[in-house]
Amino acid sequence: MIDETLTMIPGPTPVHPRILAALARPTVSHVAPSFVKDFREALDAFRRLCKSETAQPFIVSGGGTLAMEMALVNVVAPGEKILVISHGYFGDRYADLASSFGISCDVLKSEWGRAVPPAELGRKLAEGRYAAVTITHVDTSTGTAAPVEDYLRLLKGRDELVILDGVCATGGIDEPFDRWEIDVLLTAPQKAMAAPPGLALCLFSKRAMARRLSRSSIPAYYADVNRWLPVMDDPSRYYSTPCVNEIVALGEALRIVHEEGLPARFARHHRIATAIRAGLQALGFEIFTHAACRADTLSVVLLPKGVADAAFRKEVASRGVVLAGALGPIAGKAFRVGHMGNISAGEAAAVLEAIEESLRALGLAPAPGTAISAAAPYLAEVELQQALNK
Ligand code: PMP
Repeated sequence: MIDETLTMIPGPTPVHPRILAALARPTVSHVAPSFVKDFREALDAFRRLCKSETAQPFIVSGGGTLAMEMALVNVVAPGEKILVISHGYFGDRYADLASSFGISCDVLKSEWGRAVPPAELGRKLAEGRYAAVTITHVDTSTGTAAPVEDYLRLLKGRDELVILDGVCATGGIDEPFDRWEIDVLLTAPQKAMAAPPGLALCLFSKRAMARRLSRSSIPAYYADVNRWLPVMDDPSRYYSTPCVNEIVALGEALRIVHEEGLPARFARHHRIATAIRAGLQALGFEIFTHAACRADTLSVVLLPKGVADAAFRKEVASRGVVLAGALGPIAGKAFRVGHMGNISAGEAAAVLEAIEESLRALGLAPAPGTAISAAAPYLAEVELQQALNK
């Protein structure tokens, strides 16, 4: 990394120098042939990342929240009702967003750090019908990975559209759009794709596009996928000036994703998650998220009694590693470490070392090398896979 600081928060994640170099290319006209080609390639690479043959991709300046809005308002009308499965802050955001558009919702909420049991979804679906069901693949506040396939089995063949928030998963955890029969996948570039923030990404299934096209208008202008469709078909057309540099950078980030290969990339995320958790647990930390639903992209970690959040993260930051605080009911009691994107075994080891040294500085004295010894077998697997990939 160019910057010596390792930004290990759950997004934005460290941006590889190749992607930064793409970002720094001269800003060209949004209709320049070179940019039109880059835009087309980014759209195609995004669709391939989600393993879809037929979905319609959208790449629009904005962020994950705009992508959430696009995913909802294009397929659900005011007055209709949706079911939100919430595993934390970002699941709850969907309920909030829906109410801003006059869309009513039922919310299936888990205890923080746990997942809604599929049987609860089954019961809810037996009681009534919804226009759509939203699932947050990984809720960044709790580190909970939803049991997506279990939920999808219950939704198969029903009329409810499935909206999957992949913001904290896409590019780090498999999301086979066609096989899973997702209707709208929404995501953002600044997490497991490891591009800079600034874009809203969506994939719409044929069924989802048909829902949009069945309505003459929707309560949105910029977020209306129908207005963007001509641009996605032919990026030399204009609707609103695309952020040229960010799209070129996303294209480079996706090139790195596909060079690594999806199976290797998802396996690396899993091994690095396992390594970091093994190291932290060897240091005496407890992982907040229940073992049955831990995401590969971040860990939510309880602080030991007597260790203050601010003092701990300041110590770690003084060693060049930036961690994130926790949200909601665990704010001040836990921290979050992102381990997604283009993180190497060496960087994972540096994070563990910084955390171990910080504990020592705070008067908790783990034997030197405790964290690395526990993580080493998994980190060795990451290194081996990377050597084989070369
Ligand atoms: N969904 C999830 C799961 C997220 O983690 C985030 C951002 N942390 C968002 C949506 C919103 O994305 P943004 O901050 O880019 O608007």
